Amino acid sequence: TYERVLEIHKQHLSPILTAYFPKPLLLHQGHKEWLFDYEGNRYLDFFSGIVTVSVGHCHPKVNAVAQKQLGRLWHTSTLFFHPPIHEFAEKLSALLPEPLKVIFLVNSGSEANDLAMLMARAHSKSTDIISFRGGYHGGSSSTLGLTNVGPFKTELSSGLGCQSTMCPDVFRGPWGGSHCRDSPVQTIRKCSCAPDCCQAKDQYIEQFKDTLNSSVAKSIAGFFAEPIQGVNGVVQYPKGFLKEAFELVRERGGLCIADEVQTGFGRLGSHFWGFQTHGILPDIVTMAKGIGNGFPMAAVVTTPEIANSLAKSVLHFNTFGGNPIACAIGSAVLEVIKEENLQENSQEVGTYMLQKFAELRDEFEIVGDVRGKGLMIGIEMVKDKMSRQPLPREEVNEIHDNCKRMGLLIGKGGIFAQTFRIAPSMCITKPDVKFAVEVFRSALIQHRD
Ligand code: PMP
Repeated sequence: TYERVLEIHKQHLSPILTAYFPKPLLLHQGHKEWLFDYEGNRYLDFFSGIVTVSVGHCHPKVNAVAQKQLGRLWHTSTLFFHPPIHEFAEKLSALLPEPLKVIFLVNSGSEANDLAMLMARAHSKSTDIISFRGGYHGGSSSTLGLTNVGPFKTELSSGLGCQSTMCPDVFRGPWGGSHCRDSPVQTIRKCSCAPDCCQAKDQYIEQFKDTLNSSVAKSIAGFFAEPIQGVNGVVQYPKGFLKEAFELVRERGGLCIADEVQTGFGRLGSHFWGFQTHGILPDIVTMAKGIGNGFPMAAVVTTPEIANSLAKSVLHFNTFGGNPIACAIGSAVLEVIKEENLQENSQEVGTYMLQKFAELRDEFEIVGDVRGKGLMIGIEMVKDKMSRQPLPREEVNEIHDNCKRMGLLIGKGGIFAQTFRIAPSMCITKPDVKFAVEVFRSALIQHRD
C-alpha cells in the first residue's frame, strides 16, 4: 500500500507539496504528543503539524465535543446564528484585554491576515502596509505581499498586498544577515549578541524610522508583526523594539496587528498571547493553527470601533467561518488549555527544554544558536561558530532525517532552512524533552563522526 500511496501522490497531488523526508512518512494515527505510521512505528511529534496541534492529537475531550456536534448540526453559514459560535466568542473574548472584544471567524491564518489588512485599510483610509523582513503572514495572493521569508516570495502575488508592502531591513536575528536572501554570508554583524541587546534595538529603530519616512509609506494603514517570527526560524526581537515600533506606526495613523497564528494560546508559557510578552496592546489580533488543535479555523479580534469601520465600508460574509463544528472544537480547546494547565506546562517544560537544548551549543561546533520562549524553540545550525555561515541544506536534512529514524519529528525554518524548529503540543512532559534532546544529540554525533 505504501508504494501505491506514493504513486497516487505523484500522479494526482500537486508537485508543490513536497514530502518532509526522503522516505515520506505515511501517518496513520495520533495520540497526544505521539504519532504512529502505518507500520506501527511511534514518533514523538515535536512540531505538532506546523505548530498547530495545541492540546495533543485526538484529545478525548475535543474529540467527544466534535463528534457530538457532528451529529447535531454542521453548517449554517454566517447568515444564521447557532449557540456554539456565541459560546466560543464569549470564551475567546474573555481571554483578550479591553477593547479587543469583537471577533470575526474565518478558516485559516492567511484568511485572517487578509481580513485584518482589509480592516486596517477600511479604518485608516490608507493603503500602505508595513511588515518585517523575515515575517510570514500567509500564502494567499495578498498575504504573500506581507510575507517576507525569501523562499516564499513570488512576483505572482497580487499587487494589493505586495506593492504597498515595505520590506524594511529592520530586524535581523542574532545571526545577522542569515535571514536575508541576498547575503548568504552574514555581512551585517554589528550586533550578534542576545536578543535583549539595546544597541541592536536602537539600530533597528533607526532603520524602521527610515522605512516609515520613505515616500511609499507616507500614510500607513497597518503594520503586521509576529511576536516571535516562526517560519523564519524562531527569531526574537531586541527587548523594547516592538513596543517602540508600535508607537511610531501609531504616530503616523497606522493600526498595529499582532499575528498570533503561532505564538497564541499559551504556547509561549509566560503569557497567553505573544503580544503580552512585549507589553503592547495591538489594534487587531489574528490567530489560527492552535485555535482548533488542527481543525481548520481562525479568527480576527479587534475593537468595536475598527469592526464598525469595516462594516461601513464593505459587505462581508464567510461561508464556512465560524461553523458549528469549528466553534464547538474551539471552545473545547480553550477548556482543555485551562483544565490541564497547559500554559503553565508550556512555561515549565519550555524553560527546561530551552536549557537542555542550549547545552548542546557548547558541545557541538555546528549548533550556532538556541533561542525561543516557552514551547517555541529554534536551533540554528552553522558551518562553524566563527563563520556563522548556515550549515549546508543537505547536512541539515540528514540530521533532520536521522531524528525521524530515531522517532523524533522536528520542523525546519529560516531562509536556508538552517534552523530546526521545535514546537510540540503543550501537553508534553519533561521525559519527552529528555528523549528529544538525546535523539537530537545522537543525530549530531552521527553527523560529526
Ligand atoms: N501567520 C503565521 C505567523 C504563520 O506561521 C502562518 C502559517 N505558517 C500563517 C500566518 C498562515 O496560516 P495558514 O497556513 O493557516 O494560512
